[in-house]
Amino acid sequence: MALRLYNTLTAQVEEFQPVEGNQVRIYTCGPTVYDYAHIGNFRTFVFQDILRRYLRYRGYEVRQAMNLTDVDDKTIRKAREAGLDLRDFTATYIEAFEIDRELLNLETPEFLVRATDHIPDMIKLIQTLADKGYTYPSDGSTYFRVERFKDYGKLSKIDLSGIRAGARVDADEYDKANPRDFVLWKAAKEGEPYWDGALGPGRPGWHIECSVMAMKYLGETFDIHSGGTDLAFPHHENEIAQSEAATGKPFARFWLHAEHLKVNGERMAKSLGNYFTLRDLIQKNYKPTAIRYLLSEVPFRKPLNFTFDGLHQAQKSLERLRNFRYRLTMEKFPTGSSAELEARAEGARKAFEDALDDNLNTAEALAAVFNLVADGNTAMDRGEFRDGDRPRFLEVLERWDRIFGSLEDTDHAKLVRFGFIKPLQVGASDSRTSDRAAAVGVKSGDDGRGLLVETLGDEDIERQIEARNSARRSGDFPAADRIRQELDQNGVILEDTKAGTRWKRK
Ligand code: AMP
Ligand code: ZN
Repeated sequence: MALRLYNTLTAQVEEFQPVEGNQVRIYTCGPTVYDYAHIGNFRTFVFQDILRRYLRYRGYEVRQAMNLTDVDDKTIRKAREAGLDLRDFTATYIEAFEIDRELLNLETPEFLVRATDHIPDMIKLIQTLADKGYTYPSDGSTYFRVERFKDYGKLSKIDLSGIRAGARVDADEYDKANPRDFVLWKAAKEGEPYWDGALGPGRPGWHIECSVMAMKYLGETFDIHSGGTDLAFPHHENEIAQSEAATGKPFARFWLHAEHLKVNGERMAKSLGNYFTLRDLIQKNYKPTAIRYLLSEVPFRKPLNFTFDGLHQAQKSLERLRNFRYRLTMEKFPTGSSAELEARAEGARKAFEDALDDNLNTAEALAAVFNLVADGNTAMDRGEFRDGDRPRFLEVLERWDRIFGSLEDTDHAKLVRFGFIKPLQVGASDSRTSDRAAAVGVKSGDDGRGLLVETLGDEDIERQIEARNSARRSGDFPAADRIRQELDQNGVILEDTKAGTRWKRK
C-alpha cells in the first residue's frame, strides 16, 4: 500500500510520492531558542521524527532541514535581560535543544541551521521580491504587499476579507499599508542587534527566515513542510507568499500540521504558563523514553491531553514491550516453530505498516504490536511458543522500534552522560545504602538542568544482586529480602524470572 498523508494545502489525504527520485526533502520549523523547549513543542518534533523515520523505513533517502530561530523579539528581549550578546544567549538554548533531542531519541536533521547565519541570503530574497514589486518600505522597514500575491490564504483557507484596517494579524510589526501585510525586514531599534546591508540597518522578520533556509537546503520546490497547527497561519501562509512570489514555482507540496499537546483542554504554551519542559519532567523522575512514547502514541492530527496519569500509563506500556522482548531473548523454548505464530507475526508486521501508511496512524500501529505481544505471552504461558518463533517476533519489535525509538532503556546512561544524574561514588561498605536512600532527590543545577542525585551505579546494583543470590542459595532468605528492600529504597526493582534476576530503575 502507498503512504498517504493529510495535506493541509489540499485539505485531503493524498498518496505521497517525492518530487524527484527516491529522495524526500522535508522542512520543519524548529524552535525559537530563548528558553528550554516544552513538551508541547516536542510533540511536534516527535511527530516530525516519526515522519522521517517512517520515510526511511520505506526506503526513501531523507534530506531534512530544521531552522533555529535565534533572532526575534523574544530572543532579543531575553538576551538583553540576561545581559548577553544575542548569539551567546541563544547558544545556551541551542545546546539544551540538542541534549533534549538526544534524550528523546530524535534523529538529527541533515541541516540544523541558525537563522542568523543566513542574513545575506534573506536580504537577497527580499531584494528579489522588491524587484518583482511585492514589497514597499515604511519607516526603514520593508513589508510584503499581500494583495499582490493572488493565492494568499490557500493554505489556511483563512478569509481575510473580515480583517479590518488597524487590526493586527501579527503583533510583531510596525506601520503597514494593509493589516494583512507582514514585515520582511525590520528597521533597527535603539539598543537592538541589527545587520547592515542593502535594506538599511535592521533584522529579518520571522517568516523570511524559513523561506530562505528551506529553499537554500531543499530547492525551490520540495516535498514536505511541517510544524504545529498554530504555524499554518500566518507563518506558513506567509512563507508560501514570499517563496512563490519570488520563484513563480510551488514551494512545498505537502503541508503537515501536528495538533497541539494540551493541558486541561488548553494548548500547552509558554504564554499560558501551563507547560513542562523535558527537564521539569526529568526532575520529577520521569524517563525521557516514556515521554517520547507518550508523545508518539496519538496520531499527529489528534489532540493529546497531557496528564501525569497518561505518562504513568505510557511508562507501563513501554515496560510491557520491554518485558516481552526480555522473555523473547532470555527464556528457553522447545525447538521447532509454529506456522500459526509465524502467521501472527507476519500479520502484525503488515497491520503495523498499513497503519503507518494511513497518515502515520501511530495508535493503530501500536495496537498491532500489542496484539502480537498478547498472543506471544499467551503462547509462552501455555508452553506453545517455540525457539524458531523467536526471530519473527523479535523482528516485529525491532521494526516497531525503528519508528517509535524507545524500546531500549537508554535513559539512565544518557542522563548520567548529560549531567542530570550524578552517580555517587560508592566506596567501602554496604551499610551506607540507607544513607544513600536519603540522598535520593533533586537538586537544582545552576543551569536549570536539575541534578538528580543517584544512589547506586549499575555495578553496585549487580554486586548486590549477586550477594542476594548467594544468600538465597545458602538459604539465608531474611538477608536476601533485606537486600531486595534496600535496592527498592534506592529506586531499583528486582524481578525474578525464569531466565534469572532482572533489575530496572523505578
Ligand atoms: P516555537 O519554539 O514556538 O517556534 O515552536 C516550535 C514548534 O512547536 C512549532 O512547530 C510549534 O507549532 C510547535 N508547538 C508549540 N506549542 C505546541 C503544543 N502545545 N503542542 C504541539 N506543538 C506545539
Ligand atoms: Zn518556519
